[in-house]
Amino acid sequence: MILETKFVEFVPSELEERFLYISVEYGTVVHLCACGCGNKVVTPLTPTDWKMTYDGETVSLNPSVGSWNLLCKSHYWIEANEVVWAERWSNEQIEAGRNAEKLAKMNHYGEFIQKGPSEEKQEGWWLRIKSWFQ
Ligand SMILES: [Zn+2]
Repeated sequence: MILETKFVEFVPSELEERFLYISVEYGTVVHLCACGCGNKVVTPLTPTDWKMTYDGETVSLNPSVGSWNLLCKSHYWIEANEVVWAERWSNEQIEAGRNAEKLAKMNHYGEFIQKGPSEEKQEGWWLRIKSWFQ
C-alpha cells in the first residue's frame, strides 16, 4: 500500500485513509492505521521517538510503527511512502521494546537511571527462553 503525503501545519481532526499528515512545525506525523481499522496513529518526531526522512518526493519513518495499544496490534514500516508489513510482536517483545525506549529517553534527557521491577521482569523472560532450550 502506498501512502500519499500531506504537509500541513495543523493535523485535521478528520483524517483520510492512505494519507500521511506531516506537521514539521509541530514535529509530528499522523495517519490512520494501515490495516484499515480507522484508528489514528501518531508518531512524534523527536530524537528519541521517530525520525523522518524526506527525499523531496517520499517520506520514510524510522523505527517501524507498532500500534501495540490498538486491538489490531499492527506493525509495519513506512518506507518511501510504502507500508511494508512486519511481523507481529509477542507481549515479551513489546515489553522489551518499551523498556529500550524508556532507556533511550532517560539517556537522552539525562535522567537518573534506576533499577526497577521491569529489569527483573526481563530477566524472568530471559530465563524462560533459556529453559526452552534446555
Ligand atoms: Zn489497525
